[in-house]
Amino acid sequence: MAKVCIICSQEVESGHAVADDAVIRSIRWAKQSLGIAKNNTLVVCGKDLEVHKKKRQGYERNLAVYMAIAGIVLVILVFLPIFTTGFSVSATLVGLLFAALLVFMPVLTSHTPALAAASAPQPKPAEAKKAAAKKQKKR
Ligand SMILES: [Zn+2]
Repeated sequence: MAKVCIICSQEVESGHAVADDAVIRSIRWAKQSLGIAKNNTLVVCGKDLEVHKKKRQGYERNLAVYMAIAGIVLVILVFLPIFTTGFSVSATLVGLLFAALLVFMPVLTSHTPALAAASAPQPKPAEAKKAAAKKQKKR
């Protein structure tokens, strides 16, 4: 399996593995269904780590902003009418569709997956020492 950097799209010898998230899984699933999956391992190469960090931060900010707007849209188009003018199927559908589009926008334009492993919880060395000390006391 070739390793491909998600920032510069180059095949690289080594890089930091990228975490599989819902977006990557969906894309892979779609490609496998179409029979065009390359099954490359997605990585970030050493020289692109800084670029990736900035892109990831931008993506997270975008997602938060668009989700907030989607929430407002839902309130105005879906929840508010229920209590004022009454429930309307068309307004609810338009509201849900619009909110979904808003959340999809940042995913389509700036999706950047997180790095794998680095975020995985590792037992702290201090805690491991404590556990070892406890074991010794017992004996
Ligand atoms: Zn790169």
